[in-house]
Amino acid sequence: MAFEGLAQRLQGTIQKITGKGKISEADVKEMMREVRFALIEADVNLKVVKEFVKTVSERAIGQDVMKSLTPGQQVVKIVKDELTNLMGGEQNPIQFSRKPPTVIMMVGLQGAGKTTTTGKLATVLRKRHNKNPLLVAADVYRPAAIQQLETLGKQLTVPVFALGTDVSPVEIVRQALEEAEKEHHDVVIIDTAGRLHVDEELMQELKDIRELSKPEEVFLVVDAMTGQDAVNVAQSFDETVGVTGIVLTKLDGDTRGGAALSIRSVTGKPIKFVGMGEKMDALEPFHPERMASRILG
Ligand code: GDP
Repeated sequence: MAFEGLAQRLQGTIQKITGKGKISEADVKEMMREVRFALIEADVNLKVVKEFVKTVSERAIGQDVMKSLTPGQQVVKIVKDELTNLMGGEQNPIQFSRKPPTVIMMVGLQGAGKTTTTGKLATVLRKRHNKNPLLVAADVYRPAAIQQLETLGKQLTVPVFALGTDVSPVEIVRQALEEAEKEHHDVVIIDTAGRLHVDEELMQELKDIRELSKPEEVFLVVDAMTGQDAVNVAQSFDETVGVTGIVLTKLDGDTRGGAALSIRSVTGKPIKFVGMGEKMDALEPFHPERMASRILG
């Protein structure tokens, strides 16, 4: 399960405090010390941990909490509220443009799960939003990436626009937009190239595609299991290309949760979806409150 390690530690800490009839400032401090360790162990960004502990402590040590009938439960509620805030508060839905087609650009490093997520997103758009998406294969550096998208398209019966590897990505996107207009696709999802590392050439190409296609959404796909590396990648992509939302993949295998808990706070960008498995139906909207409940048990 996602967040397993963190959940276990926090639930142990919480049991101690909810078991007490009365709590003192020292109890809260002791609890927050344990929370701090648990978050650090989960690979949460240090600045984020510090802020979190400060905010929760300030709220928990107030007289109205300590003197209440159920102080332990109040403190737990504060922890839950602040975990929810940390992950962005409200669920953040896909934005559609008023004038179709809505363009969604998928960006990210190789192996993060970009192509898989493109297929999953097409499924979500069709099933939950009643849309008729067109997928665009704009990763011309890896013929296998184009094939992978075409295979997914066949499997899902979603059309894929591809022009092979000899046409520039910007030109592919230009023609894909014409095709979308002609065939009345209301959403266009562009699967862009990924590299092993953030590099200038890739960023320039993504900026060019962005300028041409004017996407409503630029989704950065990052692998949750890479922890703080995912957060750093998100920062670089946001500074250079600009992203509107984050898709955190492989959360099903992430026992720590450091990326999920840090990325919103560090980049200011919301996690819109999480990948929970390899199958095409394993993409879920990210609900901060539900995630916080899951962590706290
Ligand atoms: P790309 O290079 O970014 O396009 O990455 P791919 O889409 O090819 O994905 C790389 C690997 O990650 C594949 O084996 C996918 O099945 C796997 N993958 C993608 N998303 C998830 C996820 O949410 N959970 C799990 N467990 N595996 C995933």
